[in-house]
Amino acid sequence: MNVNAPLLAPKPVASAAGRSLIALRDITKTYSSGDVATKVLHGISLDIAPGEFVAIMGASGSGKSTLMNLIGLLDRPTTGSYKLNDQEVAELGSDQRADLRREAFGFIFQQYNLLPSATAAENVEVPAIYAGMPHAKRIERAHQILTSLGLGERLDYKPGQLSGGQQQRVSIARALMNGGAIILADEPTGALDSHSGEEVMRLLEELNEQGHTILLITHDHEVAQKARRIVEIRDGHIVSDTLVERNAPPRLQPVKTVTRSRPGRSLSLPNVAEAAKMALRSLRANLMRTLLTLLGIIIGVASVVAMLAIGDGAKQAVLDRLSGLGPDLLLVRPGAPNIRSSQGFTATLVPADADAIATLPNVAAAVPEYPGQVTVRYGNRDYQTQANATGAAYPKARSWTLAQGSFFDANDVRSYAPVVVLGETVVAAVMPDEAEPLGKYILLNNIPFQVIGILNGKGAAPNGSDQDDIVFTPITTGALRLFGQRYARYITVQAADVARIGETEEAIRQLLIERHRTEDFQIRNMAAILQMATETQNTLTLLLGSIALISLLVGGIGVMNIMLVSVTERTREIGVRMATGARTTNIMLQFNTEALVVCALGGIIGVLLGLGTAWLFDTLGQPVLFSAGPVIMAFLCAFATGLIFGYLPARKAARLDPVAALAAD
Ligand code: ADP
Ligand code: MG
Repeated sequence: MNVNAPLLAPKPVASAAGRSLIALRDITKTYSSGDVATKVLHGISLDIAPGEFVAIMGASGSGKSTLMNLIGLLDRPTTGSYKLNDQEVAELGSDQRADLRREAFGFIFQQYNLLPSATAAENVEVPAIYAGMPHAKRIERAHQILTSLGLGERLDYKPGQLSGGQQQRVSIARALMNGGAIILADEPTGALDSHSGEEVMRLLEELNEQGHTILLITHDHEVAQKARRIVEIRDGHIVSDTLVERNAPPRLQPVKTVTRSRPGRSLSLPNVAEAAKMALRSLRANLMRTLLTLLGIIIGVASVVAMLAIGDGAKQAVLDRLSGLGPDLLLVRPGAPNIRSSQGFTATLVPADADAIATLPNVAAAVPEYPGQVTVRYGNRDYQTQANATGAAYPKARSWTLAQGSFFDANDVRSYAPVVVLGETVVAAVMPDEAEPLGKYILLNNIPFQVIGILNGKGAAPNGSDQDDIVFTPITTGALRLFGQRYARYITVQAADVARIGETEEAIRQLLIERHRTEDFQIRNMAAILQMATETQNTLTLLLGSIALISLLVGGIGVMNIMLVSVTERTREIGVRMATGARTTNIMLQFNTEALVVCALGGIIGVLLGLGTAWLFDTLGQPVLFSAGPVIMAFLCAFATGLIFGYLPARKAARLDPVAALAAD
């Protein structure tokens, strides 16, 4: 193998021999948990020159790993001075420590600590991602190092598909990715069989010959004999420090950091792209969980989109129907002004009221109406349709003309004539073969009515309903015989001059109060009706929308929950990332991106599903209004959900202590 390829061509960490690369003075470390303080290191002083190969030996619990973590800038000493390459580093901030760690150190752990969902090559790339190395260069270098370590055939294997020895070689490759001038290996052979262990030791020796400084923790004497210097620790004290005479002195060929490029700002585009890629990979690794989390967001977004489309559609339909009535109309309804119409029908308006209103100035027509459903029968044909019991002025008020015969007149109304005028849809339905419908008798709810006229076709209303699917009878006959009433449901008044409609409204009010001796009716103009309908429908849409938003919120909480679990599960991964030079912002970015990716993906699918649902309602006849507003809003809500609910887990991840994270199981 030849790791010392030109790609490792280096700038010295320390140029002159004899100078200390690592200088520890009176380092102590005290762990305190609660009231209990455990002093683990009792004043360690140690100098390590560039190119040395030092084995640290000692019984379990003597403080070897603690010392190693301090040297590797994963942990801080409680007291004492630590100079790395003549720079005091004990007090550095966490970002500077992360940068130094990335540039100077390469970690090798007993348990390899590879990312299980990433391939060998991707694992090796990780430190270079945090160093800001361009993608192509990174891949090339990872492949080159792995190939030089004999893993050229295993680039795309996941750690689970590799033997222990191979995994440890991948982790050595990772340690070399950014140069690895100082390699810190904590019992690297501890988990390996003797053959693989020897192989790893041979690699470390070769690296040392190429100029890497190596610190190796072991409790195996045979392994330690491969080093050139053995430091023995007992209960936090150095008890011996001996050179292994037999081994040749280090050649002191200087190694330098490969990644001179500064990592740049964490939120730069390449960093975000990398984070998105890592997010997708880890989401793929937990596919089922990701799908379930997605589901929460999908349902939330889909319901926002569908409900708003349906709500807006219903509103539009009502407005269309109402605005078809025109601005010159006044509607007189029974019931006192302070009683809502929904509280039931009060019988106070009679057809004679309409006749009286018709005599007022500026009234072009006053038409009483009593609409309802009837069954029409002619011969053996039955047909359900709408009947409108109304006044003689109806065709004039609605500018509706007759195709045959005539509409009933005031006389017919007064005399309770059993006559009917048919819309063309009804004619086609019950008497399609009748050559001469006029004069024939048909049954409305089993009561005979004589056909005296047929209306011209009017076509579909703006809301799509068939306006010709209707029959008209005099208000008197119809209300009484068909519906058992002597009253009118409402009176529609058409003003001659729209400009004077307010005056006319007041005149009608005075007239009816005089006639009824009390105000037991309401007069509405179309503008007021439109406004009321709009308000009602807006309330409905708001209600639907807030239900949908709540489900999005629930989805968001689901995302947060899963992300928190994920952080807990991947604590060790976070530790590895920190050891390989990730700054807290890198970790933050990664977990936030994962939440964002889930929510954005859920948002896209949810929007499509919501539009599909709305479209389904549309084809089923429910009026639906598609507009970009709710779609964009729902998607942005999903995105914001990811941002907000991803923040807490991401912060939790970023605040982890690297040592504790690495120790997690
Ligand atoms: P070694 O690697 O030599 O086996 P360590 O450095 O891991 O030993 O640990 C040295 C001592 O410090 C042990 O007694 C251990 O229990 C204690 N220790 C290590 N980490 C912690 C911690 N986070 N909190 C409290 N005690 C700790
Ligand atoms: Mg240890």
